[in-house]
Amino acid sequence: MTDITDRPQAELRGFPIRIRELTLLRRELVTPLMLRVTLGGPEHVGFESHIADEHIKLIFPDPETGELNVPTQNGDVIDWPRPLPPTRDYTVRRYDPGAGEVDIDVVVHTVGLASTWAQQAPIGSRIPVAGPPRGIHIPDEFTWQAYFGDETALPAIARRVAELPRSTRGYAVIEVQNAAEEQPLDAPEGVEVRWLHRADRPRQAPVRRHGVLAPRRRRRRDGAPRHRARAQAPLEDRPLTRPWWAGPGSQPRAAHQARRRSSAASGPRTPSSRRRSRRNR
Ligand SMILES: Cc1cc2nc3c(=O)[nH]c(=O)nc-3n(C[C@H](O)[C@H](O)[C@H](O)COP(=O)(O)OP(=O)(O)OC[C@H]3O[C@@H](n4cnc5c(N)ncnc54)[C@H](O)[C@@H]3O)c2cc1C
Repeated sequence: MTDITDRPQAELRGFPIRIRELTLLRRELVTPLMLRVTLGGPEHVGFESHIADEHIKLIFPDPETGELNVPTQNGDVIDWPRPLPPTRDYTVRRYDPGAGEVDIDVVVHTVGLASTWAQQAPIGSRIPVAGPPRGIHIPDEFTWQAYFGDETALPAIARRVAELPRSTRGYAVIEVQNAAEEQPLDAPEGVEVRWLHRADRPRQAPVRRHGVLAPRRRRRRDGAPRHRARAQAPLEDRPLTRPWWAGPGSQPRAAHQARRRSSAASGPRTPSSRRRSRRNR
């Protein structure tokens, strides 16, 4: 019998965290509510992106004073100033070291620092960017995988399914506003992509009203490892859902603990980051 410790495990991988200023190169609409923002410029050199769920922190000036408090580099970590600057997290949708370009896909809405910046910042303007700090490496041996999330998780899900071995089976279930928000995904043939339309309903975790979790409760007869990701339920005023990664057996807890342990190195613990961290459980 295979010991659980012999099985491949999902693994949190941390990377040196850098602070840099990137230049806004261009923006283009992917769907009516999803804006692709391309960042670049000379400071992209040394940027690294290895894992689909990696994110960067965009750092904004204080909306009241206009003051921009930028963290300072301290070896492989960064020191955050006090008061903490406002930050927003965005998944690295694409990094092309040759072209020197980083894409992030921003869900646009009516208010919000990041949403407004994505829509209105002048081309050529610069923004401080921290990270990416870490990501969860999912072994290719996980033959059955499932991903759930709303449109804020779509950049990570889209990148992940495109990177999957073509023999992988499973699901990608994504809740978006309506059919116009669907995007073509480069998923393996055996990974079924299902779109849920929120329409006028309030945001909620897709998994709650979708029967697709059934495979989780079934034991695989061949004992092959599998992997699933789950979206956490959003809080009332914060529609964020993003996948968290989990492996077979006891891995979900291990992955979660690893994520919490690493958070001290990745950025300031603020009331909002604590709320986000609770939501990611
Ligand atoms: C690790 C990580 C990765 C993420 N990756 C992405 C990503 O790739 N793309 C992405 O779009 N988001 C992503 N998010 C979510 C994003 O960081 C939040 O949605 C963020 O709060 C948006 O900031 P804002 O300044 O525009 O709005 P905020 O100032 O945070 O919020 C202002 C108002 O807008 C509302 N609001 C916030 N987000 C949305 C939304 N998506 N739709 C509708 N209303 C909203 C809030 O409820 C609030 O009322 C990620 C979050 C995490 C933690």
